[in-house]
Amino acid sequence: MFDLDEVFYYGFPSVDERSIKVAGHCRFEPLARPEEKDLFPPAAERVEALRRFVRERLPLASDQLARFSTCIYTMTPDEDFIIDRHPEISGLVFAAGFSGHGFKFASVVGEILADLAIEGKTDHPINFLSASRFRARGS
Ligand SMILES: Cc1cc2nc3c(=O)[nH]c(=O)nc-3n(C[C@H](O)[C@H](O)[C@H](O)COP(=O)(O)OP(=O)(O)OC[C@H]3O[C@@H](n4cnc5c(N)ncnc54)[C@H](O)[C@@H]3O)c2cc1C
Repeated sequence: MFDLDEVFYYGFPSVDERSIKVAGHCRFEPLARPEEKDLFPPAAERVEALRRFVRERLPLASDQLARFSTCIYTMTPDEDFIIDRHPEISGLVFAAGFSGHGFKFASVVGEILADLAIEGKTDHPINFLSASRFRARGS
């Protein structure tokens, strides 16, 4: 992982012994439609930025491109999750807005949702993840 000025780069070692994965976690303007994901900035620019990163930071790897794709995820304004009970529908609990780092928390999020659904409360400290934090800020 490299946390550079504008982009957080991360990757995975080779699983096929031929290629590695290198990715840049970037925050751009929100998309109106998922189909817009390749427009801002153009894919060619992003590919070149990744190749430059490989040349500069992983000099023993080739910068030859095997495959490229753009993935999108929902970012909350503070990049923390939203885990809460629905304000109007009793018994409905939800977790969303994982901001690109939800996978590693899947087990504890499941536990929290089960607690909320079955017990109506949880011992995990989740107040800072409530949906109302955005309403309070007017965002
Ligand atoms: C490129 C990328 C990199 C990421 N890297 C990391 C990382 O390094 N570490 C990390 O912790 N997290 C990472 N994440 C985030 C993580 O993957 C998500 O936060 C997590 O998967 C969210 O879990 P979820 O169950 O809410 O949604 P999802 O995993 O998106 O699951 C939703 C499921 O619902 C299904 N579905 C959708 N609509 C319907 C429908 N109408 N009917 C039936 N099924 C439906 C979908 O097919 C899908 O299986 C990354 C995400 C992306 C996109």
